[in-house]
Amino acid sequence: MTRQSDFSDLLILGNGYSAHLAAIALDPVLPVRSMIAPPKRNVGAETLDGLVGQHAHSHIFLPRLEQELERIDQSLLPAMADHGCRFVPGSYRLSGDAPAGSRRMFATRWQFDEVVETLFRQRIQTRHVDATVSGAKTEADRITAISLTSGDPIPICPSTLVLDATGTKSPIMTTLADTESGVINQPGNVVYITQFFRGLDTRARPLPDPLIECPHDFGAIAMMLYPGAGGWFSISLAIDAAHKALLREMRDREAFMSFCRQSPHVAAWIEAAEPVGPNKIYINPRNTWNVSVFETGAAPANYLAVGDALTTMLPTLGANCSFAATHIRIIRDLLADRAPHLHHAFSTAVNAEQFAFFQKALVGKQAADGVTPYEASSQNRPIKRFKRRLRRLLGQDRARIIKQLSDSSSL
Ligand SMILES: Cc1cc2nc3c(=O)[nH]c(=O)nc-3n(C[C@H](O)[C@H](O)[C@H](O)COP(=O)(O)OP(=O)(O)OC[C@H]3O[C@@H](n4cnc5c(N)ncnc54)[C@H](O)[C@@H]3O)c2cc1C
Repeated sequence: MTRQSDFSDLLILGNGYSAHLAAIALDPVLPVRSMIAPPKRNVGAETLDGLVGQHAHSHIFLPRLEQELERIDQSLLPAMADHGCRFVPGSYRLSGDAPAGSRRMFATRWQFDEVVETLFRQRIQTRHVDATVSGAKTEADRITAISLTSGDPIPICPSTLVLDATGTKSPIMTTLADTESGVINQPGNVVYITQFFRGLDTRARPLPDPLIECPHDFGAIAMMLYPGAGGWFSISLAIDAAHKALLREMRDREAFMSFCRQSPHVAAWIEAAEPVGPNKIYINPRNTWNVSVFETGAAPANYLAVGDALTTMLPTLGANCSFAATHIRIIRDLLADRAPHLHHAFSTAVNAEQFAFFQKALVGKQAADGVTPYEASSQNRPIKRFKRRLRRLLGQDRARIIKQLSDSSSL
Protein backbone atom coordinates (compact mmCIF):
# COMPACT_ATOMS: atom_id res chain seq x y z
CA MET A 1 0.00 0.00 0.00
CA THR A 2 1.08 3.57 -0.71
CA ARG A 3 2.45 5.58 2.16
CA GLN A 4 3.05 9.31 2.05
CA SER A 5 6.64 8.62 3.03
CA ASP A 6 6.96 6.77 -0.30
CA PHE A 7 6.67 10.09 -2.12
CA SER A 8 9.54 12.47 -2.64
CA ASP A 9 7.83 15.11 -4.78
CA LEU A 10 4.80 15.98 -6.89
CA LEU A 11 4.29 16.16 -10.66
CA ILE A 12 1.11 17.99 -11.70
CA LEU A 13 -0.48 17.32 -15.10
CA GLY A 14 -2.49 20.31 -16.36
CA ASN A 15 -2.27 24.06 -16.04
CA GLY A 16 -5.82 25.13 -15.18
CA TYR A 17 -7.63 26.17 -12.02
CA SER A 18 -7.36 22.74 -10.31
CA ALA A 19 -3.66 22.44 -11.17
CA HIS A 20 -2.85 25.89 -9.78
CA LEU A 21 -4.88 25.47 -6.60
CA ALA A 22 -3.41 21.99 -6.06
CA ALA A 23 0.13 23.37 -6.40
CA ILE A 24 -0.59 26.11 -3.85
CA ALA A 25 -2.21 23.67 -1.41
CA LEU A 26 0.12 20.69 -1.76
CA ASP A 27 3.56 22.28 -2.17
CA PRO A 28 3.95 22.81 1.61
CA VAL A 29 3.49 19.05 2.21
CA LEU A 30 5.04 17.66 -1.01
CA PRO A 31 7.18 19.94 -3.21
CA VAL A 32 5.87 20.48 -6.74
CA ARG A 33 8.74 19.33 -8.96
CA SER A 34 7.13 20.28 -12.28
CA MET A 35 3.92 20.74 -14.22
CA ILE A 36 3.18 19.41 -17.70
CA ALA A 37 0.60 21.17 -19.89
CA PRO A 38 0.35 22.71 -23.35
CA PRO A 39 1.17 26.43 -23.59
CA LYS A 40 -1.61 28.57 -22.17
CA ARG A 41 -3.57 30.91 -24.39
CA ASN A 42 -4.02 34.33 -22.88
CA VAL A 43 -7.72 34.94 -22.67
CA GLY A 44 -9.77 37.43 -20.79
CA ALA A 45 -11.57 40.69 -21.10
CA GLU A 46 -9.41 41.88 -24.00
CA THR A 47 -9.52 38.61 -25.92
CA LEU A 48 -13.00 37.35 -25.24
CA ASP A 49 -13.21 35.86 -28.72
CA GLY A 50 -10.42 33.44 -27.79
CA LEU A 51 -12.48 31.98 -24.94
CA VAL A 52 -13.54 28.41 -25.64
CA GLY A 53 -15.15 25.50 -23.83
CA GLN A 54 -16.40 25.89 -20.29
CA HIS A 55 -14.39 29.07 -19.76
CA ALA A 56 -16.68 30.89 -22.20
CA HIS A 57 -19.74 30.43 -19.97
CA SER A 58 -21.38 31.95 -16.90
CA HIS A 59 -19.72 30.97 -13.63
CA ILE A 60 -20.72 31.43 -10.01
CA PHE A 61 -18.63 30.31 -7.05
CA LEU A 62 -20.33 28.60 -4.12
CA PRO A 63 -19.77 28.76 -0.34
CA ARG A 64 -18.15 25.31 -0.32
CA LEU A 65 -15.27 26.98 -2.19
CA GLU A 66 -15.04 29.76 0.38
CA GLN A 67 -14.86 27.21 3.19
CA GLU A 68 -12.33 24.99 1.40
CA LEU A 69 -10.02 27.90 0.56
CA GLU A 70 -10.12 28.91 4.22
CA ARG A 71 -9.24 25.35 5.25
CA ILE A 72 -6.45 25.05 2.68
CA ASP A 73 -4.67 28.28 3.68
CA GLN A 74 -6.13 31.15 5.68
CA SER A 75 -4.20 33.70 3.63
CA LEU A 76 -5.91 32.71 0.34
CA LEU A 77 -9.26 34.51 0.73
CA PRO A 78 -7.72 37.86 1.78
CA ALA A 79 -5.19 37.57 -1.06
CA MET A 80 -7.98 36.90 -3.58
CA ALA A 81 -9.97 39.83 -2.18
CA ASP A 82 -6.92 42.08 -2.79
CA HIS A 83 -7.27 41.11 -6.47
CA GLY A 84 -11.00 41.88 -6.57
CA CYS A 85 -12.45 38.36 -6.05
CA ARG A 86 -14.32 38.06 -2.75
CA PHE A 87 -17.28 36.20 -1.28
CA VAL A 88 -20.25 38.42 -0.41
CA PRO A 89 -23.92 37.87 0.46
CA GLY A 90 -25.56 36.34 -2.63
CA SER A 91 -28.44 38.84 -2.57
CA TYR A 92 -28.65 42.62 -2.38
CA ARG A 93 -31.30 42.07 0.32
CA LEU A 94 -28.81 40.45 2.71
CA SER A 95 -26.17 42.05 4.89
CA GLY A 96 -22.64 40.97 5.77
CA ASP A 97 -23.75 38.71 8.62
CA ALA A 98 -25.89 36.51 6.30
CA PRO A 99 -25.37 32.77 6.93
CA ALA A 100 -22.44 31.06 5.18
CA GLY A 101 -24.70 29.12 2.81
CA SER A 102 -26.11 32.31 1.29
CA ARG A 103 -22.74 33.73 0.22
CA ARG A 104 -21.34 33.71 -3.33
CA MET A 105 -18.34 34.97 -5.28
CA PHE A 106 -19.38 37.00 -8.35
CA ALA A 107 -16.64 36.80 -10.99
CA THR A 108 -16.34 35.82 -14.62
CA ARG A 109 -14.40 32.63 -15.17
CA TRP A 110 -11.37 34.47 -16.57
CA GLN A 111 -11.31 36.88 -13.60
CA PHE A 112 -11.32 33.94 -11.17
CA ASP A 113 -8.68 31.97 -13.11
CA GLU A 114 -6.44 35.04 -13.35
CA VAL A 115 -6.50 35.53 -9.57
CA VAL A 116 -5.76 31.85 -8.81
CA GLU A 117 -2.94 31.87 -11.37
CA THR A 118 -1.48 35.08 -9.91
CA LEU A 119 -1.41 33.55 -6.42
CA PHE A 120 0.16 30.41 -7.88
CA ARG A 121 2.93 32.46 -9.56
CA GLN A 122 3.57 34.45 -6.38
CA ARG A 123 3.85 31.37 -4.20
CA ILE A 124 5.17 28.43 -6.23
CA GLN A 125 8.49 28.06 -8.06
CA THR A 126 8.33 25.07 -10.37
CA ARG A 127 9.47 23.86 -13.77
CA HIS A 128 6.85 24.05 -16.49
CA VAL A 129 7.02 21.56 -19.37
CA ASP A 130 5.10 22.72 -22.46
CA ALA A 131 3.66 19.43 -23.70
CA THR A 132 0.42 17.49 -24.01
CA VAL A 133 0.10 14.27 -22.06
CA SER A 134 -1.18 11.24 -23.99
CA GLY A 135 -0.91 8.56 -21.30
CA ALA A 136 1.31 6.91 -18.72
CA LYS A 137 3.64 3.93 -18.68
CA THR A 138 3.50 1.76 -15.58
CA GLU A 139 5.78 -0.84 -14.07
CA ALA A 140 5.11 -2.77 -10.88
CA ASP A 141 1.95 -0.80 -10.14
CA ARG A 142 3.65 2.63 -10.43
CA ILE A 143 3.81 5.25 -13.19
CA THR A 144 7.39 5.26 -14.49
CA ALA A 145 6.95 7.61 -17.48
CA ILE A 146 4.48 10.17 -18.82
CA SER A 147 3.80 9.76 -22.55
CA LEU A 148 3.45 12.90 -24.65
CA THR A 149 1.64 13.52 -27.93
CA SER A 150 4.96 14.75 -29.33
CA GLY A 151 8.47 13.69 -28.40
CA ASP A 152 9.89 11.16 -26.01
CA PRO A 153 8.15 10.12 -22.81
CA ILE A 154 9.23 11.85 -19.62
CA PRO A 155 10.64 9.32 -17.12
CA ILE A 156 9.15 9.51 -13.65
CA CYS A 157 10.76 8.38 -10.46
CA PRO A 158 8.40 5.84 -8.77
CA SER A 159 8.54 8.01 -5.65
CA THR A 160 6.98 10.95 -7.53
CA LEU A 161 3.25 11.39 -6.91
CA VAL A 162 1.52 12.19 -10.23
CA LEU A 163 -1.51 14.45 -9.77
CA ASP A 164 -3.87 14.52 -12.75
CA ALA A 165 -5.60 17.91 -13.20
CA THR A 166 -6.12 17.68 -16.96
CA GLY A 167 -9.91 18.00 -16.87
CA THR A 168 -12.71 16.00 -18.45
CA LYS A 169 -10.60 14.61 -21.31
CA SER A 170 -7.75 13.33 -19.12
CA PRO A 171 -6.07 10.60 -21.22
CA ILE A 172 -4.86 8.69 -18.15
CA MET A 173 -8.22 8.79 -16.36
CA THR A 174 -10.12 7.93 -19.55
CA THR A 175 -8.05 4.73 -19.90
CA LEU A 176 -8.50 3.81 -16.24
CA ALA A 177 -12.23 4.58 -16.23
CA ASP A 178 -12.85 2.50 -19.39
CA THR A 179 -12.19 -0.71 -17.48
CA GLU A 180 -13.89 0.26 -14.23
CA SER A 181 -17.50 -0.83 -13.72
CA GLY A 182 -18.16 1.57 -10.81
CA VAL A 183 -17.50 4.65 -12.92
CA ILE A 184 -20.56 6.82 -13.69
CA ASN A 185 -20.59 8.76 -16.94
CA GLN A 186 -23.93 10.16 -18.05
CA PRO A 187 -24.91 12.77 -20.61
CA GLY A 188 -26.46 15.95 -19.15
CA ASN A 189 -28.80 16.30 -22.16
CA VAL A 190 -28.50 20.04 -21.98
CA VAL A 191 -26.82 22.71 -24.10
CA TYR A 192 -25.52 26.04 -22.78
CA ILE A 193 -25.66 29.26 -24.74
CA THR A 194 -24.03 32.27 -23.11
CA GLN A 195 -23.82 35.97 -23.98
CA PHE A 196 -21.35 38.27 -22.20
CA PHE A 197 -22.03 41.97 -21.53
CA ARG A 198 -19.85 44.80 -20.28
CA GLY A 199 -19.93 48.45 -19.39
CA LEU A 200 -22.59 47.94 -16.78
CA ASP A 201 -23.91 51.31 -15.62
CA THR A 202 -25.26 50.81 -12.11
CA ARG A 203 -25.52 54.55 -11.39
CA ALA A 204 -28.65 55.03 -13.46
CA ARG A 205 -30.83 52.84 -11.19
CA PRO A 206 -30.41 49.81 -8.95
CA LEU A 207 -30.61 46.58 -10.94
CA PRO A 208 -32.79 43.58 -10.05
CA ASP A 209 -31.24 41.01 -7.71
CA PRO A 210 -29.29 38.70 -10.07
CA LEU A 211 -29.65 35.39 -8.22
CA ILE A 212 -33.12 36.02 -6.83
CA GLU A 213 -35.10 37.96 -9.44
CA CYS A 214 -33.31 37.01 -12.66
CA PRO A 215 -33.28 33.19 -12.83
CA HIS A 216 -36.30 31.83 -14.67
CA ASP A 217 -37.55 28.37 -15.66
CA PHE A 218 -39.20 28.50 -19.09
CA GLY A 219 -39.69 24.72 -19.31
CA ALA A 220 -37.30 23.63 -22.04
CA ILE A 221 -35.03 26.60 -21.22
CA ALA A 222 -33.62 27.74 -17.87
CA MET A 223 -32.17 31.25 -17.77
CA MET A 224 -29.54 32.57 -15.34
CA LEU A 225 -27.68 35.85 -15.02
CA TYR A 226 -24.33 36.05 -13.19
CA PRO A 227 -22.48 39.32 -12.57
CA GLY A 228 -18.68 39.53 -12.65
CA ALA A 229 -16.31 42.28 -11.55
CA GLY A 230 -15.52 45.45 -13.50
CA GLY A 231 -18.93 45.96 -15.12
CA TRP A 232 -19.11 42.48 -16.68
CA PHE A 233 -22.02 40.06 -16.53
CA SER A 234 -23.28 37.12 -18.53
CA ILE A 235 -26.61 35.51 -19.29
CA SER A 236 -26.77 31.75 -19.95
CA LEU A 237 -29.63 29.69 -21.32
CA ALA A 238 -29.55 25.98 -20.44
CA ILE A 239 -31.64 24.37 -23.18
CA ASP A 240 -32.92 20.76 -23.33
CA ALA A 241 -30.73 19.13 -25.96
CA ALA A 242 -33.77 17.46 -27.53
CA HIS A 243 -35.09 20.83 -28.76
CA LYS A 244 -32.84 21.23 -31.78
CA ALA A 245 -34.84 24.01 -33.46
CA LEU A 246 -34.75 26.07 -30.25
CA LEU A 247 -30.99 25.60 -30.03
CA ARG A 248 -30.53 26.86 -33.56
CA GLU A 249 -32.83 29.81 -32.93
CA MET A 250 -31.02 30.91 -29.74
CA ARG A 251 -27.63 30.95 -31.47
CA ASP A 252 -28.83 34.11 -33.20
CA ARG A 253 -27.82 36.99 -30.93
CA GLU A 254 -30.95 39.05 -31.54
CA ALA A 255 -33.26 36.08 -30.95
CA PHE A 256 -31.32 35.29 -27.76
CA MET A 257 -31.60 38.86 -26.51
CA SER A 258 -35.28 39.21 -27.29
CA PHE A 259 -35.97 35.88 -25.56
CA CYS A 260 -34.13 37.08 -22.42
CA ARG A 261 -35.89 40.46 -22.49
CA GLN A 262 -39.21 38.71 -21.76
CA SER A 263 -38.16 39.00 -18.12
CA PRO A 264 -38.35 42.67 -17.10
CA HIS A 265 -35.64 41.97 -14.49
CA VAL A 266 -33.19 40.63 -17.04
CA ALA A 267 -34.22 43.33 -19.55
CA ALA A 268 -33.12 45.98 -17.01
CA TRP A 269 -29.62 44.45 -16.94
CA ILE A 270 -29.46 44.20 -20.73
CA GLU A 271 -30.43 47.88 -21.09
CA ALA A 272 -27.64 48.88 -18.69
CA ALA A 273 -24.74 47.38 -20.73
CA GLU A 274 -23.47 46.35 -24.16
CA PRO A 275 -23.33 42.75 -25.43
CA VAL A 276 -19.79 41.68 -26.33
CA GLY A 277 -19.12 39.28 -29.20
CA PRO A 278 -21.30 36.45 -30.46
CA ASN A 279 -22.92 34.09 -28.01
CA LYS A 280 -21.02 30.90 -27.12
CA ILE A 281 -22.26 27.32 -27.03
CA TYR A 282 -21.31 24.33 -24.86
CA ILE A 283 -22.82 21.02 -25.91
CA ASN A 284 -23.81 18.28 -23.53
CA PRO A 285 -21.75 18.60 -20.32
CA ARG A 286 -21.68 15.22 -18.53
CA ASN A 287 -22.06 13.90 -15.02
CA THR A 288 -18.97 11.79 -14.28
CA TRP A 289 -17.82 10.01 -11.15
CA ASN A 290 -14.39 8.41 -11.62
CA VAL A 291 -13.68 7.94 -7.90
CA SER A 292 -14.08 4.17 -8.10
CA VAL A 293 -10.73 3.78 -9.95
CA PHE A 294 -9.19 4.47 -6.53
CA GLU A 295 -11.34 1.86 -4.77
CA THR A 296 -10.38 -1.24 -6.70
CA GLY A 297 -6.61 -1.05 -7.18
CA ALA A 298 -7.07 -0.06 -10.85
CA ALA A 299 -5.06 3.18 -10.47
CA PRO A 300 -1.24 3.17 -10.26
CA ALA A 301 -0.09 3.62 -6.66
CA ASN A 302 1.61 6.96 -7.38
CA TYR A 303 -1.39 8.51 -9.18
CA LEU A 304 -4.26 10.71 -7.95
CA ALA A 305 -6.75 12.94 -9.81
CA VAL A 306 -8.56 16.17 -8.93
CA GLY A 307 -11.12 18.53 -10.44
CA ASP A 308 -12.92 17.58 -13.64
CA ALA A 309 -10.55 14.63 -14.17
CA LEU A 310 -12.18 13.09 -11.08
CA THR A 311 -15.80 14.33 -10.96
CA THR A 312 -18.10 16.58 -12.97
CA MET A 313 -21.71 17.61 -12.49
CA LEU A 314 -24.17 19.64 -14.51
CA PRO A 315 -23.00 23.27 -14.66
CA THR A 316 -26.41 24.61 -13.57
CA LEU A 317 -25.40 23.49 -10.06
CA GLY A 318 -22.32 25.76 -10.18
CA ALA A 319 -20.57 23.27 -7.92
CA ASN A 320 -17.57 21.90 -9.82
CA CYS A 321 -14.89 24.44 -8.88
CA SER A 322 -15.82 24.09 -5.22
CA PHE A 323 -15.75 20.28 -5.53
CA ALA A 324 -12.23 20.45 -6.99
CA ALA A 325 -11.16 22.44 -3.93
CA THR A 326 -12.55 19.65 -1.73
CA HIS A 327 -10.53 17.01 -3.65
CA ILE A 328 -7.41 19.11 -3.12
CA ARG A 329 -8.02 19.75 0.59
CA ILE A 330 -8.63 16.03 1.17
CA ILE A 331 -5.32 15.12 -0.53
CA ARG A 332 -3.44 17.83 1.38
CA ASP A 333 -4.76 16.49 4.70
CA LEU A 334 -4.01 12.86 3.81
CA LEU A 335 -0.45 13.69 2.79
CA ALA A 336 0.08 15.84 5.87
CA ASP A 337 -1.30 13.04 8.09
CA ARG A 338 0.86 10.43 6.33
CA ALA A 339 -2.26 8.35 5.63
CA PRO A 340 -1.15 4.72 5.22
CA HIS A 341 -3.60 3.63 2.49
CA LEU A 342 -3.78 6.70 0.29
CA HIS A 343 -6.16 5.52 -2.46
CA HIS A 344 -8.54 3.92 -0.01
CA ALA A 345 -8.52 6.97 2.29
CA PHE A 346 -8.96 9.35 -0.67
CA SER A 347 -11.89 7.53 -2.26
CA THR A 348 -13.56 7.01 1.12
CA ALA A 349 -13.34 10.72 1.94
CA VAL A 350 -14.53 11.87 -1.51
CA ASN A 351 -17.44 9.41 -1.40
CA ALA A 352 -18.42 10.52 2.09
CA GLU A 353 -18.24 14.24 1.34
CA GLN A 354 -19.53 14.41 -2.24
CA PHE A 355 -21.41 11.36 -3.49
CA ALA A 356 -24.80 12.30 -2.01
CA PHE A 357 -24.65 15.71 -3.74
CA PHE A 358 -23.51 14.07 -7.00
CA GLN A 359 -26.47 11.67 -6.89
CA LYS A 360 -28.85 14.62 -6.67
CA ALA A 361 -27.24 15.99 -9.84
CA LEU A 362 -28.09 12.72 -11.60
CA VAL A 363 -31.77 13.07 -10.88
CA GLY A 364 -32.31 15.34 -13.86
CA LYS A 365 -35.70 16.88 -14.51
CA GLN A 366 -37.93 15.42 -17.23
CA ALA A 367 -37.45 17.07 -20.61
CA ALA A 368 -40.17 19.74 -20.95
CA ASP A 369 -42.45 19.68 -23.99
CA GLY A 370 -41.58 23.22 -24.98
CA VAL A 371 -41.17 26.79 -23.81
CA THR A 372 -43.65 28.50 -21.50
CA PRO A 373 -43.63 32.26 -22.15
CA TYR A 374 -42.47 34.38 -19.20
CA GLU A 375 -45.84 36.00 -18.60
CA ALA A 376 -47.62 32.62 -18.58
CA SER A 377 -45.36 30.97 -15.99
CA SER A 378 -46.95 30.02 -12.69
CA GLN A 379 -44.57 32.17 -10.66
CA ASN A 380 -45.83 35.24 -12.54
CA ARG A 381 -49.49 34.89 -11.67
CA PRO A 382 -50.73 38.30 -10.46
CA ILE A 383 -51.47 36.97 -6.97
CA LYS A 384 -47.93 35.55 -6.63
CA ARG A 385 -46.39 38.79 -7.86
CA PHE A 386 -48.50 40.77 -5.41
CA LYS A 387 -47.49 38.54 -2.50
CA ARG A 388 -43.81 38.82 -3.45
CA ARG A 389 -44.02 42.62 -3.56
CA LEU A 390 -45.85 42.73 -0.24
CA ARG A 391 -43.32 40.44 1.47
CA ARG A 392 -40.53 42.64 0.20
CA LEU A 393 -42.21 45.86 1.33
CA LEU A 394 -42.71 44.37 4.78
CA GLY A 395 -39.10 43.15 4.86
CA GLN A 396 -40.30 39.54 5.14
CA ASP A 397 -38.51 38.15 2.09
CA ARG A 398 -35.08 37.60 3.66
CA ALA A 399 -35.80 34.17 5.17
CA ARG A 400 -36.92 32.89 1.75
CA ILE A 401 -33.88 34.40 0.05
CA ILE A 402 -31.54 32.77 2.57
CA LYS A 403 -33.29 29.42 2.09
CA GLN A 404 -33.16 29.70 -1.72
CA LEU A 405 -29.43 30.48 -1.68
CA SER A 406 -28.59 27.93 1.02
CA ASP A 407 -30.46 25.14 -0.81
CA SER A 408 -28.14 25.56 -3.80
CA SER A 409 -24.92 26.22 -1.85
CA SER A 410 -23.42 22.70 -2.23
CA LEU A 411 -22.57 22.73 1.50
C1 LIG B 1 -20.97 25.56 -19.27
C2 LIG B 1 -20.26 25.35 -17.98
C3 LIG B 1 -20.51 26.19 -16.91
C4 LIG B 1 -19.88 25.97 -15.69
N1 LIG B 1 -20.19 26.77 -14.63
C5 LIG B 1 -19.62 26.55 -13.43
C6 LIG B 1 -19.95 27.35 -12.32
O1 LIG B 1 -20.81 28.22 -12.40
N2 LIG B 1 -19.29 27.14 -11.13
C7 LIG B 1 -18.35 26.14 -11.00
O2 LIG B 1 -17.79 25.99 -9.90
N3 LIG B 1 -18.02 25.35 -12.05
C8 LIG B 1 -18.63 25.53 -13.25
N4 LIG B 1 -18.29 24.74 -14.31
C9 LIG B 1 -17.27 23.69 -14.14
C10 LIG B 1 -15.86 24.28 -14.08
O3 LIG B 1 -15.65 25.12 -15.19
C11 LIG B 1 -14.84 23.13 -14.06
O4 LIG B 1 -15.17 22.27 -12.99
C12 LIG B 1 -13.42 23.59 -13.86
O5 LIG B 1 -12.98 24.36 -14.95
C13 LIG B 1 -12.49 22.39 -13.72
O6 LIG B 1 -11.17 22.84 -13.66
P1 LIG B 1 -9.99 21.82 -13.96
O7 LIG B 1 -8.74 22.61 -13.74
O8 LIG B 1 -10.21 20.58 -13.20
O9 LIG B 1 -10.15 21.46 -15.50
P2 LIG B 1 -9.92 22.41 -16.76
O10 LIG B 1 -10.41 23.78 -16.47
O11 LIG B 1 -10.50 21.68 -17.93
O12 LIG B 1 -8.34 22.50 -16.90
C14 LIG B 1 -7.60 21.40 -17.42
C15 LIG B 1 -6.17 21.84 -17.69
O13 LIG B 1 -5.43 20.73 -18.17
C16 LIG B 1 -4.81 21.04 -19.40
N5 LIG B 1 -4.84 19.81 -20.19
C17 LIG B 1 -5.92 19.26 -20.78
N6 LIG B 1 -5.56 18.13 -21.41
C18 LIG B 1 -4.24 17.97 -21.19
C19 LIG B 1 -3.29 16.98 -21.57
N7 LIG B 1 -3.65 15.93 -22.31
N8 LIG B 1 -2.01 17.13 -21.19
C20 LIG B 1 -1.61 18.18 -20.41
N9 LIG B 1 -2.48 19.15 -20.01
C21 LIG B 1 -3.77 19.04 -20.42
C22 LIG B 1 -5.62 22.17 -20.01
O14 LIG B 1 -4.82 22.93 -20.89
C23 LIG B 1 -6.02 22.94 -18.75
O15 LIG B 1 -4.98 23.79 -18.37
C24 LIG B 1 -18.95 24.91 -15.54
C25 LIG B 1 -18.69 24.06 -16.62
C26 LIG B 1 -19.35 24.26 -17.82
C27 LIG B 1 -19.10 23.31 -18.94
